[in-house]
Amino acid sequence: MTKKNNNKNKRIPVVPLRGIVAYPKLTLAFDAGRTGTLAALDKALNSDRKVLLLAQKDLEVDNPMAADLYRVGTIADIVQVLEVKNDYFKILTEGIERAKVNRLVRKGKGFYVADYEEYPRAPFHVTSKLMDELKIEAAHREIIKLFETYAVETGTVPPDAISFAKTLKDYDQLIDLVSVHVNFKLERKQALLEEQDLSKRLDQIILSLSQELKLFQYGQEINRKVKKSIDKQQRDYFLREQMRTIEDELSGEQSELSEAARLRELFAESSIPEDYREKVEREIDRVARMPANFPEASVQINWLELVLNLPFGKTDVEKLDLKSARKILDRDHYGLKDVKQRIIEYLAVRKLQVEQGIKKMRGPILCLVGPPGVGKTSIAKSIAEAIGRKYIRMSLGGIRDESEIRGHRRTYVGAMAGRIMQGISHVDIDNPLFLLDEIDKLGHDFRGDPSSALLEVLDPEQNDNFRDHYVEIPYDLSHVLFVTTANTIEGIPGPLFDRMELIQLSGYTEVEKVEIAKRHLLPKQIEANGLTAKQLSLTDGALKSLIAWYTAEAGVRQLERELARVCRRVAIRIAEDEIKSFRVKQTDLEELLGNRKYFFDLAEKEDLLGSATGLAWTYAGGDTLTIEVNILPGSGKLELTGQLGDVMKESAKAALTYCRSRSEELNMAEDFITKNDIHIHVPAGAVPKDGPSAGITMATALASAISGKKVRHDLAMTGEISLRGRVLRIGGLKEKSVAAHRAKIKEILIPKENEPDLEDVPESVLNNLKITPVETMDDVLRIALVE
Ligand code: ADP
Repeated sequence: MTKKNNNKNKRIPVVPLRGIVAYPKLTLAFDAGRTGTLAALDKALNSDRKVLLLAQKDLEVDNPMAADLYRVGTIADIVQVLEVKNDYFKILTEGIERAKVNRLVRKGKGFYVADYEEYPRAPFHVTSKLMDELKIEAAHREIIKLFETYAVETGTVPPDAISFAKTLKDYDQLIDLVSVHVNFKLERKQALLEEQDLSKRLDQIILSLSQELKLFQYGQEINRKVKKSIDKQQRDYFLREQMRTIEDELSGEQSELSEAARLRELFAESSIPEDYREKVEREIDRVARMPANFPEASVQINWLELVLNLPFGKTDVEKLDLKSARKILDRDHYGLKDVKQRIIEYLAVRKLQVEQGIKKMRGPILCLVGPPGVGKTSIAKSIAEAIGRKYIRMSLGGIRDESEIRGHRRTYVGAMAGRIMQGISHVDIDNPLFLLDEIDKLGHDFRGDPSSALLEVLDPEQNDNFRDHYVEIPYDLSHVLFVTTANTIEGIPGPLFDRMELIQLSGYTEVEKVEIAKRHLLPKQIEANGLTAKQLSLTDGALKSLIAWYTAEAGVRQLERELARVCRRVAIRIAEDEIKSFRVKQTDLEELLGNRKYFFDLAEKEDLLGSATGLAWTYAGGDTLTIEVNILPGSGKLELTGQLGDVMKESAKAALTYCRSRSEELNMAEDFITKNDIHIHVPAGAVPKDGPSAGITMATALASAISGKKVRHDLAMTGEISLRGRVLRIGGLKEKSVAAHRAKIKEILIPKENEPDLEDVPESVLNNLKITPVETMDDVLRIALVE
């Protein structure tokens, strides 16, 4: 609220200030030495001793121009001029009132004269109308409190200033006083000068003061921390120096006794081959000569420890009693008849080799292939037990670097042996069973291809002289029985694949799962949770529902976890004497395990238009899959959604081509394709789906949408489609049929070419599911579409 100026033509010399702002009614002392400043002062002293004090925007500027100066300043009286030395003065001024510059005129000696007008503050009665008196009083107290705290904490405010502030009744002057004594940024000080409204100024100063206080406190805290850490470093350094002196005093024999002597003992017992004994002994001597805290000593000791622990040539006698091997396999695993048979055959061949005096492993490497949780690992463990070999397991999943298999050279910082030799160093014989898990998850990149290193490990022709870069001494791996596992065949690197003898384990049916749970998983968990069979049992109905409601898997891993949960819940109740024993029925499941997770009812309850059920095969087993087609007026676009892979998109196009070739049978108008958009969607989560085996399902859904005939809801199908409508072979028939059975489908259509695979399908599924082989898409539509 500027009062309009009536004497516009007033002129006054300008003194630029660097880094400070002058306020009315307050004295200000500053230094003056610049020619322009001195000329302006001179001019003032020769008239009414008044100057306009304007702050410079940038305090680095030496000869400020008009644009470098703020436009609002304070008119002040020059009270005192003191020459400190030649042409260098201390000036004392007293602020009078604020003024706003209208124009700056440059004078000869490098100073400015300002045309200015008054720039008064809003009178108090105006402000107080806008702001409650009480609020102003509260703000006043807050300012005094903050200002005092600031003064005490920083120690930078003269005590006079505090007592003066407390006596001040003029709030504007109080604000100015605080601003002069607190270390605000220049812009903030200037803003305080320019603001006319008292209530805003009060807010501004309180905010600025508390920020400044916080900043100061943070700064202090950082200082404290830095100081503390420096103190600690000095202390550590000092202690370390002391320790070193003590160690030097005791040097020599002490460390020789502890490390080198221990290594020599190990060496005496080790079976390192003759050719390398001298080399290793030399290395031990080196350790003996090194000071104990020498960094290289620990690298050296690590190497020696590994090498000295390797079981060179220490072979366990092989126990190849086929009868007892079969017993152990049967004891640990339900079903898996073929798998066990294949393993026994494999062992029989091995037995003959041993009888002929062949110690080396010959022939292909066993590879157990199947979805997770079908017992691959546990079969391998049983094989080891059956033939009396030690067991080592190592996962290859995600290994991308060749040196993880073959080790780093010792010169490399942080070098380590490869995983094979690390594994071997943990057993004390050289013919263990070594399980290489997830061989299909092996990666490769620029660091080299681990599969070629692995090939060398597995190849009986080469592996009797395996050189790990770190170990350096060649090691004979030819007695090791390597067994591998994989989820899918596709992921196994080609060259490795050629040396494998594949044994496929497929998913279990519901009946098999119930048996496995009853005979193996439940007894195992009952024991692990400190219960007895008397205390906990499950009815068959409960087991079946537990499998259907709480698990969705090809194997039995999740089932084992859920059973463990049941055991824990029951164990708590028995431990708390709530009950003595528990026979779990179907109706108890939700209470023990919470709400059911899966609903395996029929995918659809009634026949639908443009929707068909397919069967999918994932690495985790089989599943049903709904395919939906919608037709809308449009311009011939084909849209595919539901995270479909390229192969699946191609089969959608093939399906469409087939439908077009049958336009007559399907009542498809000639311009159907150009006048409509087709949208094919495969719901069920955001799981990416791919593969050609949904071809006939898409064609069926399409044909239904086009012809207006519904698809049978109790039917599912699988098969690739050719452009002419032939139904082509697919994989995973067993898993798919199990999944269809689980989903209570009545009939499935499969490619005729897959008929031989029917012998893999479990009886319990065959008894309850009609399986119809088909050759052409026309057959499929005849069975699938209802009139
Ligand atoms: P994978 O190695 O195939 O992922 P695991 O060997 O880890 O599977 O099997 C998971 C669990 O299921 C183990 O406790 C295993 O003993 C058990 N299991 C799997 N198949 C059978 C079976 N046929 N009979 C008994 N237990 C089984």
